[in-house]
Amino acid sequence: MRSQAMYFKVRAGDKLADRLLQQNLAKARSKFVDARAAAVAAYDGDFEALRSAGQGIRDRVLENLDLWLETFEERARARGAEVLYARDGEEICRLVTGIAQRHGVTKAVKSKSMLSEEAGLNAALTAVGVQPVETDLGEYIQQIDDNEPPSHILAPAFHKSREQVADLFARAHGKPRKTDIPEMTREAREVLREHFLSAGMGISGGNFLIAETGSVALVTNEGNGRMVTTLPDVHVVITGIEKIVPRLEDLATLMRLLPRSGTGQDISNYVSVLTGVKGEGDRDGPSHLYVILVDNGRASLVGSEFQDMLRCIRCGACMNHCPVYQTVGGHAYGWVYPGPMGAVLTPLFTGLGNALDLPHAATLCNQCGVVCPVRIPLPELLRRLRQRQVEAGLRPRGERIGMRAWAWLARRPRLYRLATRLVVRYLNWLAEGADRIRVMGVAPEWTAERDFPAPQGRTFHELYAQRRRTGEE
Ligand code: SF4
Repeated sequence: MRSQAMYFKVRAGDKLADRLLQQNLAKARSKFVDARAAAVAAYDGDFEALRSAGQGIRDRVLENLDLWLETFEERARARGAEVLYARDGEEICRLVTGIAQRHGVTKAVKSKSMLSEEAGLNAALTAVGVQPVETDLGEYIQQIDDNEPPSHILAPAFHKSREQVADLFARAHGKPRKTDIPEMTREAREVLREHFLSAGMGISGGNFLIAETGSVALVTNEGNGRMVTTLPDVHVVITGIEKIVPRLEDLATLMRLLPRSGTGQDISNYVSVLTGVKGEGDRDGPSHLYVILVDNGRASLVGSEFQDMLRCIRCGACMNHCPVYQTVGGHAYGWVYPGPMGAVLTPLFTGLGNALDLPHAATLCNQCGVVCPVRIPLPELLRRLRQRQVEAGLRPRGERIGMRAWAWLARRPRLYRLATRLVVRYLNWLAEGADRIRVMGVAPEWTAERDFPAPQGRTFHELYAQRRRTGEE
């Protein structure tokens, strides 16, 4: 079966034609970008040095991932947690539903778990009679909107307007429609509080796993994470095997990077470090803690040309700054992770042939590479994926023939110059004297959404030859 990510081009076309979505995206476009710029400017140290430190921590972990996982497992077990491993989404579902059934759980409150999205966990829980309730406000909005998937890893309802959310709340809560944001959040809080108090199980992700203490660090802005992880008697953490950091001190370094890069905050509203089960005399906390460490394609990246991607700390900066994401939104990417990080991760996790368009859903402008707090060379990884597609014969026949013809021509400079002149003449003919081409003759797709600039002045070859003649720099 083809994954939804297969159809990026079709989805992107639909999103461009969706006027309401375009209005919502335009309003939200600069929010996180401006906030990050201000936070980085206000940082009272060398932010580039901080990025290097973050990269170093993540690289050191990946060099000995198996050893750090063993350390984490040993320390977490010593504090009463049960550490389990899941190969894939199916196994996540099997483990979590099994835990729920063993503890007689009928309702689970959830916070911040992209991995449960990878696994399709909500459907699996529902199938065994467990009601999953999303408690991050954005996730909750998406859940009451017929389980629409999130469109951003930090702000799941990023693509929705306040008016749309007001309609949803009125429908789902059966109360008078409100459009005042504090009133709306109060209403959601009242509804969610009932769920927190009646749930038998809490399910959360984990931003980082701290090997030296066997702890799980959870970074949230709404406080619901604390309710999910401390009120129910059973807590299940689902997180990727790559989320390990060696020491608490390393967490401090990464916490200087994560909120500044993602939302432009100096520090998130809540940073919880969860260690083991409720101890004697503790007033809250779960009696049963399960930590499920998930592979789902991650282990195969260790030692590969894509290992750098495992440094990702899921801050969202790459998508916030991506001109493609900003224009089409997250749903166009068709799977859990949108933006440049998704364009790399989705083909790696779901198969190269299942996400053919995604490595091409980027202009390679390198904005993502510039803002990534752990210096993941996203454009280079996208380029490698494109190369892999070509090597695997996955690109369309016309494209392959075209590229071969171009390579043949590029090795014959005289012929290449002649061909360039002919193309320029053809483009000028299409432009009919204007400075824009409205319909690009043999490649009309290029001008389906915008005009193409007509050639201006001389070609690159002509300019280069002139500079060499005149000795201009
Ligand atoms: S790839 Fe980099 S910028 Fe994008 S989410 Fe991951 S850490 Fe953040």
